[in-house]
Amino acid sequence: MEYPTRVGNRLLAALPPADFGLLTPYLQKVSLEQDAVLLRSGDRLEHVYFPHSGTISFMLDMPNGQTVATAVIGHEGAVGMLSVLEPSLSPVTAVVRVAGVASRISALRFHAAFSQSGAIRHAVQTHARALLMQFQHVAACNALHSVEARMARWLLHIHDRIDGDVLPLTQEALSQLLGVRRTTVTQVVRKLRVSGAIRSDRRGLIEINRPRLKEAACECYEVMRRRIDQIFPPETMKPGVQAAPVREIPRDRDPFLAK
Ligand SMILES: [Zn+2]
Repeated sequence: MEYPTRVGNRLLAALPPADFGLLTPYLQKVSLEQDAVLLRSGDRLEHVYFPHSGTISFMLDMPNGQTVATAVIGHEGAVGMLSVLEPSLSPVTAVVRVAGVASRISALRFHAAFSQSGAIRHAVQTHARALLMQFQHVAACNALHSVEARMARWLLHIHDRIDGDVLPLTQEALSQLLGVRRTTVTQVVRKLRVSGAIRSDRRGLIEINRPRLKEAACECYEVMRRRIDQIFPPETMKPGVQAAPVREIPRDRDPFLAK
């Protein structure tokens, strides 16, 4: 088992060393392979994943087999973390969209550390706030905005969490994210390519032109990005930073509690 010495996940990086130390003996570095299913809806949550890189989408599976994305997370989030609030079966399926690396811990070990550490409980609250914010915006966006604007928004969310301008997304993956048919995806990709927002889409690789893509996306993208930046403290912005030193934040100045 390899113990992490540097922390690329923002939730872990924000923990004081003593609290992070409750987790480190049990954290295991694992690869996140593209299209891997980390968790299926209805599964018991066995592990909590903290991505250091890569992108994971939370998918809601409908009884008729359709799927739609409800949130995307990268190194600012976690998979399975909210299981500590109420042990239950997963309501969503978590799929790796862009490969990366994560720290993984058993849900039981994480729950034990959660019971002992205020900072870990705080991290769970932070993650819950970030997810709830995404769920609310995605619900509104799905009701109010066009498929083209929504696709541009998802591409930007994923682009924010990876290096480079080439996103390894197949049309099937886009169809699942958007909850629309492949034929609709083909039409929308063509429109975005004509407008210059997508430079090319070959063999499951989509090269984007970010400024053009931002013009095609709805306002939800900027709003959600700003809210994520408000939820996470600036010192945990950069992947690869060491765990933050111990510091006490007065309750009235705590950015998590004050907003
Ligand atoms: Zn929108």
